Amino acid sequence: MMSLKTEEEIELLKENALLVSKTLAEVGKAVKPGVTTKKLNDIADAFIRDHGAIPSFLGYEGFPAALCMSVNDAVVHGFPSDYVLKDGDVVSVDCGTIYKGYNGDSAYTFPVGEVDEETSRLLEVTEKSVDLGAAQAIAGNRIGDIGHAVQSYCESFGFTVVREMVGHGLGKSMHEEPEVPNYGKPGYGKKLREGLVICIEPMINAGTRSIYLDDNGWTVRTSDGKKSAHFEKTVVVRHDESQILTTYDYIEKGIEYN
Ligand code: MG
Ligand code: MG
Repeated sequence: MMSLKTEEEIELLKENALLVSKTLAEVGKAVKPGVTTKKLNDIADAFIRDHGAIPSFLGYEGFPAALCMSVNDAVVHGFPSDYVLKDGDVVSVDCGTIYKGYNGDSAYTFPVGEVDEETSRLLEVTEKSVDLGAAQAIAGNRIGDIGHAVQSYCESFGFTVVREMVGHGLGKSMHEEPEVPNYGKPGYGKKLREGLVICIEPMINAGTRSIYLDDNGWTVRTSDGKKSAHFEKTVVVRHDESQILTTYDYIEKGIEYN
């Protein structure tokens, strides 16, 4: 069953959305060559707790850290580690919070130092595809409209869409119905209704869409070793125009926050 949220619930989800957005901005300030992914994780863990929330990923089905830190060929679910980021890397940071009984969930892929042109385009295209998907999150549209918007845009640049993992509803649980694939056919799938809150989170590969599971049992990697990008926003389905709860403005425009 898809659960539709009241305006009060959406306010609580928005508080979480802003907290994960601010946490990603804190992490972004520290992303540079020479820093370990564990250090970035620790910054986020402290920031989330300082704001009275809990990092939702820590301990989730045994996940060992506050954030997912997926470097280069890692698509999602990377472990923070002693790996030292170097110039030309990308690091996908996925952040989740629990605050006042509701969840926050957002992801951003940061370039480390100077990245090559193809990588830079991969990040730009993946990020924009989230907004194109979100624009379809209108009551009366269907899940396939979102996936189609993401897929057709990313594939037009020669990039590929990971199929095995998908976006999801968000509320008191981190993963609620419906599943939100990043591929699909317009006009197909479940009908979207006002008050549904979903996470749109394309995982887009520079090369093949084929992936494999790392020996650690968690981290998903590209089969050809090429880079992958992952961006995620939390979106409310509305009647006329979808409402995006998370923001990248703190990262990209350097907008100050408390
Ligand atoms: Mg996430
Ligand atoms: Mg998610």
